[in-house]
Amino acid sequence: MEYFDYIGGSFVAEKVKVEDLAKQYGTPLYVYSRTCLEDTFKAFDSSFGDTPHLVCYAVKANSNIAVLNVMAKLGAGFDIVSGGELARVIKAGGDPAKVVYSGVAKSKDEIIYALEKGIKCFNVESEAEMQRISEIATSLKKEAPVSIRVNPDVDAGTHPYISTGLKKNKFGVTIDKAYDLYLAASKMPGIAIKGIDCHIGSQLTTITPFTDAIDRVLCLVDRLEKVGINFSHIDVGGGLGVVYDDETPPSIKEYVEAIKDKLVHKKLTIICEPGRAMVANAGVLVAKCEYLKEGEISNFCIVDTAMNDLIRPSLYEAWMKIEEVNKNLDRPQKEYDVVGPICETGDFLGKGRKLKVASGDYLVVRGAGAYGFAMSSNYNSRPRAAEILVSADKTYVIRARETIDDLYALETLV
Ligand SMILES: *Cc1c(COP(=O)(O)O)cnc(C)c1O
Repeated sequence: MEYFDYIGGSFVAEKVKVEDLAKQYGTPLYVYSRTCLEDTFKAFDSSFGDTPHLVCYAVKANSNIAVLNVMAKLGAGFDIVSGGELARVIKAGGDPAKVVYSGVAKSKDEIIYALEKGIKCFNVESEAEMQRISEIATSLKKEAPVSIRVNPDVDAGTHPYISTGLKKNKFGVTIDKAYDLYLAASKMPGIAIKGIDCHIGSQLTTITPFTDAIDRVLCLVDRLEKVGINFSHIDVGGGLGVVYDDETPPSIKEYVEAIKDKLVHKKLTIICEPGRAMVANAGVLVAKCEYLKEGEISNFCIVDTAMNDLIRPSLYEAWMKIEEVNKNLDRPQKEYDVVGPICETGDFLGKGRKLKVASGDYLVVRGAGAYGFAMSSNYNSRPRAAEILVSADKTYVIRARETIDDLYALETLV
């Protein structure tokens, strides 16, 4: 099934015309497909078959509580990177016992909160963090379940800002240091070693970096087992890429099969942490053309949607597909830079796009379900977009559009 498609030239989300949503709720507008979210989660989950596993959706990709709730109802676990994300998971009906907690800078309060809620595992990223968790758990008379995030030093072959598994990155512990840290942790009070973890980057479009990383982690697992340190799970992280343009990432099934093949002999529960691959193509961002403007070098299609709403093109030079919401309108086709209202030259959604567009027409940015709203801001005092979830012919407003009053609600005059 196509979750987003054209019917008679009009762009639809499941069974709902997106032009109608834009007129009713205004733009910029995020629109998600519930069926796509569900089918994608089920694709991960079912590909593992009867291999013990837990699919922990990486909350940071799209943390709306309705999105989390859709996953929670299907039995998902969650990968979090802050106390705020844990609160969202709980608010959304997620089970803390299925939560793994990554991130290099966990604060004392966040560690206490996670221990009190009984999360599944801390993915520890340094020796100092291990010591802090040990002290806090001991003082609370609890045992903290931990794994160490190993940095396997493999090149994910992706954009430098979303590559995390190289020695020069701030994430995790090198393989050699991880060995020593496991030995030290095995003697620390309040620490229960549960697993081993890695996450090498995002938007990976080949299998090899994943399997190379697993090979390196497995070597370490073998060394540690020889000295009596055993694991109940291995967490392979997230990072599976999606199609924005002409990328050819492995399918979810191919990805899971490759992981299973590597790990099947180990009899460990496999945890994976997909973010982007779970939600990117379950969402679009709808913009309205305010003005057309001819420049000396390029034509500009100036839309009401900007880098504060969707920062991926500006931040990572990410290419995202932009199309007309209504393909039946009679407009001359021209090549445009699609730019927003923000006072930055880097404020664009796409460059050199052939579009048939006039002022007042709607455009749709595809693949905006991941790292879209979640990375949005109020820069230039722009209220953040509304979010809509579509399920067949039903429409739910899962986040109301922010108001102007919301912008300074927490501010005070001196
Ligand atoms: C961001 C992140 C993920 C998810 O990455 P995707 O590329 O969105 O799948 C998983 N695990 C950790 C630790 C992360 O930081």
